[in-house]
Amino acid sequence: LETALPGYLQRLNPDQRRAVEFGVTPGAAGMAGAPLLIIAGAGSGKTNTLAHRVAHLVVNGVDPRRILLLTFSRRAAAEMCRRVERIAAAALGPKASVLSEGLTFAGTFHAVGARLLRDYAAHIGLDPAFTIHDREDSADLMNLVRHEMGFSKTEKRFPAKGTCLSIYSRVVNAQAPLAAILASAFPWSVGWEAELKTLFAAYVEAKQRQNVLDYDDLLLYWAQMVGEPSLAAEIGGRFDHVLVDEYQDTNRLQASILLGLKPDGRGLAVVGDDAQSIYSFRAAEIRNILDFPGHFTPRAAVVTLDRNYRSTQPILAAANAVIAEASERYAKELWSERASVERPQIVTVRDEIEQANFVASEVLAAREAGLALKSQAVLFRASHHSGPLEVELTRRNIPFVKFGGLKFLDAAHVKDVLAVLRFAENPRDRAAGFRVLQLLPGIGPASARRMVDAVSAVGALVPALEAQTPPPRSGEDWPGFLDLLRRLGSRAAGWPAEIDQVREWYGPHLERLHEDAATRQADLVQLAQIATGYASRERFLTELTLDPPDATSGRAADPLLDEDYLILSTIHSAKGQEWKSVHVLNVVDGCMPSDLAVGSAKDIEEERRLLYVAMTRAKDHLHLIVPQRFFTHGQSSRGDRHVYASRTRFIPSPLLRHFSARLWPEPVESGSATAPSEGPRIDVRARLRSMWS
Ligand code: ATP
Ligand code: MG
Repeated sequence: LETALPGYLQRLNPDQRRAVEFGVTPGAAGMAGAPLLIIAGAGSGKTNTLAHRVAHLVVNGVDPRRILLLTFSRRAAAEMCRRVERIAAAALGPKASVLSEGLTFAGTFHAVGARLLRDYAAHIGLDPAFTIHDREDSADLMNLVRHEMGFSKTEKRFPAKGTCLSIYSRVVNAQAPLAAILASAFPWSVGWEAELKTLFAAYVEAKQRQNVLDYDDLLLYWAQMVGEPSLAAEIGGRFDHVLVDEYQDTNRLQASILLGLKPDGRGLAVVGDDAQSIYSFRAAEIRNILDFPGHFTPRAAVVTLDRNYRSTQPILAAANAVIAEASERYAKELWSERASVERPQIVTVRDEIEQANFVASEVLAAREAGLALKSQAVLFRASHHSGPLEVELTRRNIPFVKFGGLKFLDAAHVKDVLAVLRFAENPRDRAAGFRVLQLLPGIGPASARRMVDAVSAVGALVPALEAQTPPPRSGEDWPGFLDLLRRLGSRAAGWPAEIDQVREWYGPHLERLHEDAATRQADLVQLAQIATGYASRERFLTELTLDPPDATSGRAADPLLDEDYLILSTIHSAKGQEWKSVHVLNVVDGCMPSDLAVGSAKDIEEERRLLYVAMTRAKDHLHLIVPQRFFTHGQSSRGDRHVYASRTRFIPSPLLRHFSARLWPEPVESGSATAPSEGPRIDVRARLRSMWS
């Protein structure tokens, strides 16, 4: 009976409801049904359906601790948990206390991997006190190894440090032979196969010696673990249900983890859109989602959704038209009931400065008309594309927050404080030790290396350092430093008080090292604030390294404040989100598609999907901006320079009927622009004087 259905099911359309209810037998909580794939276009409610499914499981008695929910970012996981709790709490009423601990296993593959690895470290010969290297640390370590092995000296044309790490990472994530990866993605490095293999072996050894894991290791060790049948059964047995959002952007390693956890697919539900696959540079494998149903016998159930609830029909029609030109065929054409007469706009401006001007003006005008800044976003391909806009927004005092750009944690002073904590946590972490020791006056790279070696040899931090004679200039600071490490080692202060101990110690060094110590202190206060959200030092370090908070600028220095601010985001980081109004910058050839992609048809197709992702973020208003001059920031081999640009090839002339065209600033009719109008007269000088009276 329709009326007997809980309210949350009534809100869904029949296809969504089928996906939510699939394989869930009321009263048989521990039983998981056959595998399920939801494959559907943007804004069709995939994420929403997944959240309802999780809530439906909980309402039907599944223990929330036995649900594993994998998302694309920590933000997405947090948002999903909130939704699930809201839906389930409303349905459960007084019984909602089962939700008290919330979903304990919800997060990115990397974050969940880190947690499971700590739990099962003993089973795989891993020291559970491992620390995690971010990309920069990993590149540094790779470089060090490369140096030590003499590869940087013997041959000038040996791949650069960043390239070495990219190659390594791609091989690991794609689970493909090195030669194949070189041939397909790193043609300049073909021929170095043997040397790269030696280098990578040494890199792996260095990581193991130091008890550090890089991002890829979190997946790799996890995959190894579940490749072992007994462990796979144990770990897989902890979860009745495993649900994955944005499945089109998983790579082969991630797919193998899922299959290891749930070999027969029971309890597995994945969701995604093949037309939104945009992470091939991280070895994402579009075949994962296409091949999913056939992995299992009997095949997985497939649900498709074709109604879009997000965008107006004209926006959707334009996005559909762009993706329909793709050489691959995507299964669905979306429709929307949200009628509107406003077509998306293609706005031609002179250059990037005008583009920044236009966006700032438009955003302000929209706010005047009642659209909060938070419901507007500006999207761009690469982080540095927002530079001129950031300047303009700051000039006009429009607060903004930037996603996917330079991270808060990349700031030197924040890294310093984290390095102290990491060194205390894992004395074998050389990158951390190296950084920390050099904060002391008089200690340079040579003495730091000597001390780090000594610590590694002894295996204990304070005793090893006590035996060292500090360089004379650091003599005064040395006892205080050892004292700090002792206190951190004893964990006497507890978390998060430990971070205050570090800040206190670091204060004088900060003043000595940086002129703008005061602003940096403010960042550290914010870091301490963030620290209060974590249960332990280890959780704080792990989760912060894996998914750092976003960089903020403008007036909204603290995104936690409930202030109104404009969102700036790379398209990649905008995945899964939506705003009432969206501006997309630099919709020109050379940027979309990027100069770098020009050449391989496959890369170009991914660029088209990127534009599709950007366009489908908009609910009501969409502007694609085309600057006629565009500055390439050394991303092509031709270096930094201005180029004349034209509208992206993904919107050829026949598709223009889906858009309205606009030139900005609007051309002024001759004669009317010269003389000042007969408007009201304002005594500006008097006004300015009165400001001070
Ligand atoms: P993307 O591909 O961008 O990740 P998606 O398919 O995950 O999109 P959602 O983000 O889940 O789509 O939903 C898009 C919008 O549609 C949201 O605002 C959501 O609340 C709304 N929505 C989804 N299903 C329904 C429904 N049955 N009734 C009303 N609104 C809905
Ligand atoms: Mg989604």
